[in-house]
Amino acid sequence: MGFWQTGYMEFHEPTGWASGSRGGSAVKFFEICETCGKSFNSLDLLTLHRIEQHPKPEPGLFIRGYELGASTLKVRTPLQRSEIMFSHEGEIKLNGRTVLACDAIEAICTATQQTFDLTLGHVGMRRNFQIDLRIPDESDLNGVERSVSKLIGGGRLDRRGIDQLICECRDFPTAGEYSGGIVHYFYGVLAREESPETELQFQDHEERLNRAASQLVGFQRPLSMCLCAVISFIGNHFKMAANQCPQSRVAAAARSMTSLVTGKIGDGETIPSLYAVIEDQKFTDIDTERLIRWAVVPVTERVKYIAEMESAFKTMKSAFDRSKLAILIASSAVSAGERVVAVKYASHLRSSPEFGKWADRFFKNI
Ligand SMILES: [Zn+2]
Repeated sequence: MGFWQTGYMEFHEPTGWASGSRGGSAVKFFEICETCGKSFNSLDLLTLHRIEQHPKPEPGLFIRGYELGASTLKVRTPLQRSEIMFSHEGEIKLNGRTVLACDAIEAICTATQQTFDLTLGHVGMRRNFQIDLRIPDESDLNGVERSVSKLIGGGRLDRRGIDQLICECRDFPTAGEYSGGIVHYFYGVLAREESPETELQFQDHEERLNRAASQLVGFQRPLSMCLCAVISFIGNHFKMAANQCPQSRVAAAARSMTSLVTGKIGDGETIPSLYAVIEDQKFTDIDTERLIRWAVVPVTERVKYIAEMESAFKTMKSAFDRSKLAILIASSAVSAGERVVAVKYASHLRSSPEFGKWADRFFKNI
């Protein structure tokens, strides 16, 4: 029996996320500059700070707080003018035509279906950026979310429910990428739970979740942002998970993991009472759910779960999950004065590319 069928979760009436509200507006978290640690109460202010205080010599393009690189940026939710910023934009070419910054911003914000090729030039340096902008109809996105809400409201994730979702979403053609990403996510959950509802194997969840993330990443909606954050958490991309849906419980778990890994606090994060724009526990598979719950509790409480976490370490199949567990167990064991246990689990990460440094520091400090 998988997590969805156990009744372990409480199901509630659909919440505001299905109304089409865009993510990030209900509760605002402080955004932190990774370079200097200063905090800001909006991504726009943080971006301005980065441009002004940590300038780079080359021209740059920032959209929704993120600096664009070589890969194409997908935009599926209309951009506001304040969400686009340039640094060192001496010359701007938009699809081959030289334009002013304000005109480039206007064109990007008013388009609904367009690919943009943007070149920024500054004292002999030139950078090129690609934006793939396709804005679905709001009514189609809302329709998809109503169908998803119905599926999870049933408290049972099975093939029939997913087929029904796919069928209903045919009525919402402009949101096909959105519903397709959500369906991939659900199959990823079934694979992670080794559900008899699918022929997918456990290891297939990675491919399904990657496809889900690549289809959902451009949508600024609570549901897609939450699913992307869960996927990042599963893949141990904690900073990304925390940024993708800051006001979610999974983001709190991700911040807690980051603080354990960087060794700054070594404590769990207290979840703010207003975090829940979306109830992410409705969407998590059972292993992810357990990891989130262990990660968000304060260390004084987490020590009570050491035996339970050790037992889970033997059964969790994903190496990513066992890495998270090893960090949680080793750090809790130190707090509980159980040095042998701490050494045992920290040893698992000594040769890990992601957490080897953490393990080295851990052994120096205990
Ligand atoms: Zn800074």
